Amino acid sequence: MSITKGHFGTLPDGRSVNYFTLKNSKGFQAQITNFGGILISLKAPDRVGKLEDVVLGYEKLEDYNKKAFYFGAIIGRHANRIANASFELDGKEYKLFKNEGENHLHGGEVGFDKVLWNYEVYEDSLELSYTSKDKEEGYPGNLKVMVIYTLSEENELRIEYSAVSDKTTVINLTNHSYFNLSGHASGDILKHKVWINADKFTVIDEASLPNGEFRDVKGTPLDFTSPTYIGDRINDSDPQMVFAGGYDHNYVLNTAGNLKEKAAEVYDEVSGRVMEVYTDKPGIQFYSGNFLDGSAIGKGGAVYNKRQALCLETQFFPNAMVHKNFPSPILKAGDTYNYTTIYKFSSR
Ligand code: BGC
Repeated sequence: MSITKGHFGTLPDGRSVNYFTLKNSKGFQAQITNFGGILISLKAPDRVGKLEDVVLGYEKLEDYNKKAFYFGAIIGRHANRIANASFELDGKEYKLFKNEGENHLHGGEVGFDKVLWNYEVYEDSLELSYTSKDKEEGYPGNLKVMVIYTLSEENELRIEYSAVSDKTTVINLTNHSYFNLSGHASGDILKHKVWINADKFTVIDEASLPNGEFRDVKGTPLDFTSPTYIGDRINDSDPQMVFAGGYDHNYVLNTAGNLKEKAAEVYDEVSGRVMEVYTDKPGIQFYSGNFLDGSAIGKGGAVYNKRQALCLETQFFPNAMVHKNFPSPILKAGDTYNYTTIYKFSSR
């Protein structure tokens, strides 16, 4: 295992931004910047051992600071949507920033994806920390957040999230990496096979907000309880697929609380690459890159088109402050939020 540090760029206010290269003895490698905690590249071997960068991203810091796709970033304080950009907590209403119509998405105007994190480098891990001030983006409490990226000899990228607040608040952290197992510049992901360890998903409305209902995946185009090509049913006329323009749904994981059992797997027959996902969080947002539209010019000049990548964002369920039947994203003052997600790479 080795970790090296380089200069990634300079923010408009003059602060210097770094990037870190974590590499194991097999060549499996992750590059992470302390701006937004963004995973800027991830090189994994195919079935003949050829390394390829399997995450979408930009070459320059400036692009990450401007554009809105959240490539590779840590999302917080609250991943995904909060309806009407407000929530009630202990009898008080909190108003958040509206950055998607009337709703609040991925932490607001300046979410955790667009702030500079402090860093510590350890033998096999990079520790990022950030203090989000009371009322930042409208959320209560001074929140100390820590995200630790660790690379293992087993080709795992482990992301450990922890946080503590001095006032009761809400928190739902995730990583928003866009994966394409054939390589970030290789076209769409419709021939990737997906398996998700979930018998239910949360039903969405026209605005992609969960309406509180859990629905069995069986008999719907959202059933990934056996490995299925993403492209097979993505244009189905089921209103759930129409509302989202593809897959953009929260799955209710059978593995909630259990980091040892596999939550999801993606297989790319072309390269042979396999990505397994392990997490102790209760949900996973399966997003099939429906809003990519060719406007993002990424690494090496790659044009990122619709459905060029998929996200498997481990999370609490969107809009969970409204639906009391969802696991609660409330973090009590002084308690510790602590969850882990592992993306494990192999080939066959
Ligand atoms: C959301 C999508 C959104 C994407 C990029 C995903 O987590 O579910 O609806 O377009 O992030 O913002």
